[in-house]
Amino acid sequence: MARVYNFSAGPAMLPEPVLAQARDEMLDWQGSGMCVAEMSHRGKEFMSIAAQAEADLRELLQIPANYKVLFLQGGASSQFAMIPMNLLREGGSADYINTGSWSKKAIAEARRYGTVNVVASTEADKFTRAPAQDELKLTAGAAYVHYTPNETIEGVEFPYVPETNGVPLVADMSSTLLSRPIDVSRFGLIYAGAQKNIGPAGLTIVIVREDLIGQTLPGTPTMFDYKIHADNESMYNTPPTYAWYQAGLVFKWLKDMGGLEAMAAVNARKAKKLYDTIDASSFYQNPVDPPARSWMNVPFTLANAELDDTFIKEAKAQGLTTLKGHRSVGGMRASIYNAMPEAGVDALVAFMQDFERRQG
Ligand SMILES: *Cc1c(COP(=O)(O)O)cnc(C)c1O
Repeated sequence: MARVYNFSAGPAMLPEPVLAQARDEMLDWQGSGMCVAEMSHRGKEFMSIAAQAEADLRELLQIPANYKVLFLQGGASSQFAMIPMNLLREGGSADYINTGSWSKKAIAEARRYGTVNVVASTEADKFTRAPAQDELKLTAGAAYVHYTPNETIEGVEFPYVPETNGVPLVADMSSTLLSRPIDVSRFGLIYAGAQKNIGPAGLTIVIVREDLIGQTLPGTPTMFDYKIHADNESMYNTPPTYAWYQAGLVFKWLKDMGGLEAMAAVNARKAKKLYDTIDASSFYQNPVDPPARSWMNVPFTLANAELDDTFIKEAKAQGLTTLKGHRSVGGMRASIYNAMPEAGVDALVAFMQDFERRQG
């Protein structure tokens, strides 16, 4: 069977050259006589894979030397707890910006550990926009400010990095990290589950400024302490070795593609093609304020929701899969991360136009 264009929000497509290399190395990684999944995480082979992946990620994102890069497990969802445990400080408070479903989960979890101030919310607008800088009612003395640069479910993205006047900025970049260059020095902590735009599920990347760690709330489990993982190079316990290896292959692929500037150009083009198609039609609709439209996740509805099932079925027959929208939003959602080829977006656009001609 031919490979499909898979528009899943996550786990999502991986670059074909990455899968091909993983296949070629499956039984024997570079003369070791082993699959990477069979290696000791403390052996020299895996240590070299791990170090190379970190070096390539640091190069791609130009991560400053005073930031630790951690390769953890537990998904972005564990970070919702780990962040307050490590950054909140006893009796402290944190500011959260509420722009969608993932923000809400992060807020609910942080409330278990201390005072959370929701300093801006777009819930009254059904999460269809990003708040402006002057809407953020930041709290003096907050331990950190948390936000979700790209809301994967609603398809809403901040078109700017919030200014927090020295308060550490914490960003859930699960669905946007590596989609374009960022200035890491603007952030106290960046985290991302890998399965959207980095690699296979099971790996969570945390990039944290080193002066922020080592002051956990009392009772923080050892495994939830960033300092433990930083001091042990993410090998306090057995790390997700195979996912780490594949993420490393993705980092190499991104370098081969010309790095994040080059990816940003392709990603902007892919997103524009889809939004232009939607906006040019009265059959398709996207509710998000144009400056805040996501490059990575494009939700859209059909004029007649009774056609949703037909749309999904016909798209699938053409090798365009997993377009069903999130259950909380309905309609369709096309996730177009780095590994979605531009040809996949072209095929979707052609299908949408043809479907509208026949059914609109
Ligand atoms: C997918 C996603 C999560 C949850 O990630 P898990 O790794 O499944 O815990 C959190 N935040 C955002 C923005 C996401 O896209």
